Amino acid sequence: MPRSTGSAAAPAPPPWDLDRCPAGQLARRYADLQAFVTWLGAQDIPAPACWYTHGWLVHRLAALQAWRARAYAPDAHPRDAAEWWVVGVATLQRDWEPCLAHDGRHPPPDAPWDDPAPIPEFGAFVEARVRERAEHPPPAPRARPPRPTPP
Ligand SMILES: [Zn+2]
Repeated sequence: MPRSTGSAAAPAPPPWDLDRCPAGQLARRYADLQAFVTWLGAQDIPAPACWYTHGWLVHRLAALQAWRARAYAPDAHPRDAAEWWVVGVATLQRDWEPCLAHDGRHPPPDAPWDDPAPIPEFGAFVEARVRERAEHPPPAPRARPPRPTPP
């Protein structure tokens, strides 16, 4: 019988590379990110309302969410959590600042701000992403090449 080390196992971080997320899991990942954004808001860190429409922001939030799981794992050092706030969250807040002004609309690429398009509703946007992913599934993960053996 294996002996317990007495420490709780760290929870696995959520998958953070949404480009590799299969269509069948993509809606769940967006829902998880929506919950994470809501949680950030409860910490007085309101995200831009249009966060899900900005690919870079979705990717940053997914990475930050996974990082948080590691930073707050039972075996993590408190410095990990502090670093998560200072390096991860504060930097993201700085970078998404311009998106806070979007206020429910985005400029079309050919006529910036002359005739802004309304931001799509979250559920409709995610459904469209899932359909796209089903039509264009991510490539299968490649196996790592074997490590060269030392002479
Ligand atoms: Zn926006």
